[in-house]
Amino acid sequence: MATEIRIYRADTGSCNGCDIEVLASLDPKYGLGELNVSVAEHPEEANVLLVTGLVTKKTEPELKKIYEKIQEPRLVIAYGQCAVGMDVFYDSYNAAGAVDEVIPVNFYLPGCPPSPRATLFGVTAALGVEGFKEGEAIWTVPEAFRGKVEVDEEACIGCGACSEVCPPAAIDIEKKEDKMTLRFWHSKCIRCGSCKDICPSEAITMSDDYRLVTGDRQQLFSDITKDMQKCAECGQELVNTQIITFGLDAVGEHLREKYGELMKTDPKAWGKIAKPYADLKKECQTDIGLLCPTCRKTLDKIKKEKMLLLAINLEEFSA
Ligand code: SF4
Ligand code: SF4
Repeated sequence: MATEIRIYRADTGSCNGCDIEVLASLDPKYGLGELNVSVAEHPEEANVLLVTGLVTKKTEPELKKIYEKIQEPRLVIAYGQCAVGMDVFYDSYNAAGAVDEVIPVNFYLPGCPPSPRATLFGVTAALGVEGFKEGEAIWTVPEAFRGKVEVDEEACIGCGACSEVCPPAAIDIEKKEDKMTLRFWHSKCIRCGSCKDICPSEAITMSDDYRLVTGDRQQLFSDITKDMQKCAECGQELVNTQIITFGLDAVGEHLREKYGELMKTDPKAWGKIAKPYADLKKECQTDIGLLCPTCRKTLDKIKKEKMLLLAINLEEFSA
């Protein structure tokens, strides 16, 4: 990259969130100016183009014209989630696409919006700006900062709830043979935290990692693979035993919280609750975890299970 970096910023359909962060990054306290990085007022004066926002059908021709005017080496940075992967607008009627669907993109800098930290790290790392240093006071990540999503493979029970609630459809679930792959696309994630909030097993955390700049957005993902459960009789896909165990443990915890006192004060009443629960748990961990409902019916288990569920009539004890 040339020793002098002149960046022209084009907004092709952003909400202005990214633009505000770009301006914040120019604050002298971050020292970008001292690193020979400046902002160009006209595309003809720039050698780097930084694009914010997804490209709308209206801005598409303008972006193409601007791109042609940028000087060599004419590097393009797609800045922020909309520019990188279209964000929540991925199926909008008015969108021409992410930036790389309209002009060539060299670097992707995700974030919704990228913080000044992410911006400085991303721009300097991408363009090879010398002299940039992390680790000073301004780089301390605030407590509530939401960076890259991380998933604990051990803790994940493979329920798929995170994928259901993700606004920009950044979590894919792929099922193949006896494996299920859960893929988190950091190029789409807007760090809303919904997946973390919904995850029943607390497998998801929002890390403080903002170093996500890349030259290949197809590489901006992380994934985990879980074993899938199949019916031992017919091979049909089943709710896996980890989910069943998780649910049963949650019920057990609830029973202990609500009726645990009975253990000391009225062991007989506690037994009426604890015994059917223990039976159901045993049953679930054997037959229900191994057989689909159809096969369970043929094995004449369903009636027994219903009886067990009826036996756990919590209302009977809540008066
Ligand atoms: S934080 Fe989770 S739910 Fe929100 S966009 Fe990212 S992956 Fe989706
Ligand atoms: S919500 Fe949590 S447990 Fe369920 S699939 Fe997602 S990460 Fe795994």
